[in-house]
Amino acid sequence: MQFSESVLQLASKAEAALINRFAEIDRISFENTNRVMDAFRRFRVSESLFQSSSGYGNGDRGRDVLDEIWADVMGAEAAFVRHSIVSGTHALTIGLFGLLRPGDVMYSIAGKPYDTLEEVIGLCGESGNGSLKDFGVDYLQTDLTENGEFRMEEITENLKRLPRVKVVFIQRSKGYLNRKTLSVAQIGQAVRAVKEIRPEVFVVVDNCYGEFVETREPTHVGADLIIGSLIKNPGGGMAESGGYLAGSARAVELASYRLTSVGIGVEQGATLGQNKSLYKGLFYAPHTVSQALKTAHLAAYVFEEMGYTVEPKWNEERHDIIQSVITGSEELLCAFCRGIQQGSPVDAFVTPEPWAMPGYSDRVIMAAGGFTQGSSIELSADGPIRAPYTCFFQGGLTYESGKLGILSAAQSLMDQK
Ligand SMILES: *Cc1c(COP(=O)(O)O)cnc(C)c1O
Repeated sequence: MQFSESVLQLASKAEAALINRFAEIDRISFENTNRVMDAFRRFRVSESLFQSSSGYGNGDRGRDVLDEIWADVMGAEAAFVRHSIVSGTHALTIGLFGLLRPGDVMYSIAGKPYDTLEEVIGLCGESGNGSLKDFGVDYLQTDLTENGEFRMEEITENLKRLPRVKVVFIQRSKGYLNRKTLSVAQIGQAVRAVKEIRPEVFVVVDNCYGEFVETREPTHVGADLIIGSLIKNPGGGMAESGGYLAGSARAVELASYRLTSVGIGVEQGATLGQNKSLYKGLFYAPHTVSQALKTAHLAAYVFEEMGYTVEPKWNEERHDIIQSVITGSEELLCAFCRGIQQGSPVDAFVTPEPWAMPGYSDRVIMAAGGFTQGSSIELSADGPIRAPYTCFFQGGLTYESGKLGILSAAQSLMDQK
């Protein structure tokens, strides 16, 4: 790829400014890798665990040991991780339906959950399709404050007032919302406050995009269940598909009965040759996340220097891998996405165009050139075609390729102006 002198200079300036940030990211990646490798050693990972199973998958040692390793790494009592979980939304659905019963209340204390959960909860969509609402589960929500803090007074009051609350739900990452991502420390404070009033409540965390960004996960600070996707952070760019749930023994057991059947839980499920890529994915995940984080920091610096408003800023501490840039016009948003696409390893020759994606009220433009369809630990970008034309992006399997993608987007924006 060819870049103009001004783009290259901007990149050098950014990297000089980011030396300390990058060193901190390396430190976190080292600590997380150490935790993962400790678990691999203690659970005696060997080649025999990579073997495949078919049919019922009874006695698949590789699958069972991987579950134990995941629990250990996440600071949880139990976990299951399956290639057959089709997405993050599916994993969250398994968790919510596993824990909630008719008459219970799901209480989201960090504002609106991710878009795809609205139909699962029954906030939108046709009734009768089998949402939580159809099954008699009620929903309550308290938004975060303007500064992105929990409204503890209101939350405390509601927990005292509503004994039917069974699940307290927290989304860690901002998703596509205009709010800050929660830190693990913040989540820990909220968990403690909730448990003080209602120790029996399950605190469930949508952990998407947060894994391995810090040295602790919400389960290390008391969450009962954390849930995420393997084609984001914790699959390390290696897992072909899948999701995970980790948490207390009881919460994971209840969720496992929704994964398969009551009575069967995690004891069956053929792995169809996927064990090795899931082991390898967990092994790579801390490093891959560090590469995505460096790419995001670089992007924040470069685009801010170019005059765009970015969130988070280049020198801010991060709690997920998402970066947003306000481009200000449809033309610039499209130019940005074209640049990312051209800087991708797969489908670099494709030109992304805005389209009316089902489930979204505005047209959306997406750039994705990864090895795995829809994988967002690989460099990928998207944005709705509406003011202020914000582009959300994340990922980067290697810092070098992530940097190329960012420089390509910067060049594309400069050329458009
Ligand atoms: C991506 C994401 C989801 C849903 O994951 P899919 O794999 O797209 O179904 C849920 N919550 C958050 C915060 C996410 O970022």
